[in-house]
Amino acid sequence: MFEINCDVAVIGGGPAGLSAAVSAKKEGAGKVLIIERDYSLGGILQQCIHPGFGLAYFKEELTGPEYAGRFIDEVLDAGVEVLLKTMVLEVLPEEKLIICVSSERGMTKVNFKSVVLAMGCRERTRANIMIPGTRPSGVYTAGSAQRLINRQNAMVGKRVVILGSGDIGMIMARRMTLEGAKVLAVVEIMDFLAGLTRNRVQCLDDFGIPLKLAHTVTRIVGNERIEGVYIAAVDENKKPLFDTEEYIECDTLLLSVGLIPENELTKKAEIKISDITNGPIVNQYMQTSAAPVFACGNVVHVNDLVDNVSVESITAGKYAAHYALGTMPDIVKKVEVIKGNNVRYLCPHEMNVSKENEKVKFYFRVLCPDRDVKIVVKSNGEVIASKKAKIINPGEMENIQINMEEINSESITIEVIKEA
Ligand SMILES: Cc1cc2nc3c(=O)[nH]c(=O)nc-3n(C[C@H](O)[C@H](O)[C@H](O)COP(=O)(O)OP(=O)(O)OC[C@H]3O[C@@H](n4cnc5c(N)ncnc54)[C@H](O)[C@@H]3O)c2cc1C
Repeated sequence: MFEINCDVAVIGGGPAGLSAAVSAKKEGAGKVLIIERDYSLGGILQQCIHPGFGLAYFKEELTGPEYAGRFIDEVLDAGVEVLLKTMVLEVLPEEKLIICVSSERGMTKVNFKSVVLAMGCRERTRANIMIPGTRPSGVYTAGSAQRLINRQNAMVGKRVVILGSGDIGMIMARRMTLEGAKVLAVVEIMDFLAGLTRNRVQCLDDFGIPLKLAHTVTRIVGNERIEGVYIAAVDENKKPLFDTEEYIECDTLLLSVGLIPENELTKKAEIKISDITNGPIVNQYMQTSAAPVFACGNVVHVNDLVDNVSVESITAGKYAAHYALGTMPDIVKKVEVIKGNNVRYLCPHEMNVSKENEKVKFYFRVLCPDRDVKIVVKSNGEVIASKKAKIINPGEMENIQINMEEINSESITIEVIKEA
């Protein structure tokens, strides 16, 4: 079998893998190797030709390919090595070994000192949400429609209904409209928006596309090609109210009903997975339960903005380099991180207190929308960090930073409280 040795291996050449690889190299790692199954670097950003990327990280508005392009240049300048068209089949943390395959080299072994998982996520499909009805063509996930239109120049339909108000769905509502299609409705089962408010404004409101909150698609109609869908309002338990059913004639249904982190490799490696994010549990170094394995980006938790992905991936790459070099921080104690009121999950999930006085930024999503709130971090009942938020929304990630030296207990709690 073909064999390659490296110091830090990075699985996935999307924005997470690119940032992690550059960061590992900058931190002094020797040979850094990205393994990517696609024929080019950039991950999902290659098909995101709309603007809206980089506002936080580069302080300018870029398209997806432009954003990825900046990191690809850095990867090449830093001397990171890249294996394209190579699919990783297995990660063996104890043996520090990756098994991958490509048509060029066949089965290949990659020996590493540390590895960064950056495999991103995939879309939920019709099968995942079990919509009743016939099985005609014309039902796409929003991301596959995006790939067909933006990369393969193939238009997918003319009269469109979109199920799900996630960012991809809203972005595709605008894209389909710009391409000459009529988007008849974006239908969302929750009574609040799933994606970013800015996308509702720029992608739906600006184009007069109706958003139907607390509604769902109850049935798909059509034999060869989809001819229409029934939609209905839902009750508080998300059950359709069939007496409200209405028929919309359409030739296309796009599904934007959530993303699933690509963790088949992670599970096979017996790395601990969070029940909530479906991604590996990580500490503030983005280190998983298997010491040589780090993880970042959408494989850990579905991020709203790529800018946040880049920031956490820089951390993953940095500490993957330290692990490979044998210079990880000395840990004094572990601190339990507890989710308090209106916090769905926290990333990092765990925290180690080291001898260095580190600042740790926690990213999280709330369970339900609210206004005029305060995000607080408590240690031993004492507030050690807080910030105000005018509006919070499950579709938008929140964050708060703490100073490690302020922790005076075995656990910290992060919660959202109503401003008095
Ligand atoms: C449609 C859409 C619109 C978006 N719009 C915006 C926006 O306007 N602004 C914004 O900031 N963010 C946006 N985002 C979010 C942003 O694109 C993601 O947060 C970001 O791409 C996540 O990066 P990643 O590297 O974790 O994953 P990905 O970009 O998915 O990259 C993962 C890479 O891993 C590779 N891979 C997976 N498994 C293997 C394997 N076994 N072997 C080898 N390679 C593997 C994949 O081929 C892929 O290249 C959007 C996302 C989508 C899907």
